[in-house]
Amino acid sequence: MCILCLESHKPLTEEHIFPEAAGGSIAKHLLCKACNDKLGHWIDAPYLDQKHIQLARATYKIQGKTGKVPQPFSDTYTIDESESKLRIKLDSNFAPRVVPQTPRVWITKNREIGLILSRDVRDKKEIPKVIRTTLSRFLNSEAGQQLGWSEEEKEQAIQRSIEGSKQVSPRPEKIQPYLSGRWTIDLKALFAEYVKVIYEICCIEFSSQFRDSASGQRLRTFLLAQCATAPAPWDWIEAAKHLNVAPQVPPDLDDFIKRLTKNNQHTYHIAVVTPSGVVCSMLGMGAVFHTKDLEQIATASDVAKVYMSSINGGKSGIFALGELLSHTDDF
Ligand SMILES: [Zn+2]
Repeated sequence: MCILCLESHKPLTEEHIFPEAAGGSIAKHLLCKACNDKLGHWIDAPYLDQKHIQLARATYKIQGKTGKVPQPFSDTYTIDESESKLRIKLDSNFAPRVVPQTPRVWITKNREIGLILSRDVRDKKEIPKVIRTTLSRFLNSEAGQQLGWSEEEKEQAIQRSIEGSKQVSPRPEKIQPYLSGRWTIDLKALFAEYVKVIYEICCIEFSSQFRDSASGQRLRTFLLAQCATAPAPWDWIEAAKHLNVAPQVPPDLDDFIKRLTKNNQHTYHIAVVTPSGVVCSMLGMGAVFHTKDLEQIATASDVAKVYMSSINGGKSGIFALGELLSHTDDF
């Protein structure tokens, strides 16, 4: 049975509990294709769009399905000290590269052609082509026709300009070693992702009893409500109380998670399942879900598990809590 639409006749597809693009490696057959796509689009994608997730992916080189690692600093920056107000972008290795500027062309007092264009030194090969395109366009425009040049004279001017460009030596630019900007984190996107992870883990560990409980219904209703272009506005703190999801890991379990992850929570997705709920931490930020309903679930008392997914080679999988506690030093 699909844990979201609750239809039993549809084939189940593999769902990554922690998003695959963020380095999650634990997958289970939980959702029908339509529901899997729905959660991917409305819950996982907005979560993965967050700058701190992109930064973690860039830092640990976590590729998405397309094999690409996002560049969280993809904006264009101006080099303030430069006379010509050069603009730069950072490539995937955070190396600056000059953004091509629209070339400026004009007729000088001596009825010659003036041209300014700037390119990154690594794009030097493009320059003759850019000069040719820019000047041809200008010389055939109304402004350029005023020179009254023949086709041959136009070609000579283009050649002179290309030759001239070869004499220009590259100019080093001073670039500040820091960038400043403002980031916004969408707490709603984070919160929705935690609810998804927690709901899926509870469905696996507490099966149909959880699905049919008041808590299960509440989490499911919340998730389904997010899968719409304009979900109803909500107060996330109120919703957190209502759903029993607090966007913070309690200190005792936080210490435990730190120990399991060797103090590098930023390279782990981890969820600790206890008889009273789930504590979840993804890339260093976490949430906790606890509910009284679980106490009434027969299987709950036996459950003490850890879902662990390392993004840089540590131990990944689903483990019994006791097993981890007795072998913590091996991780
Ligand atoms: Zn479904």
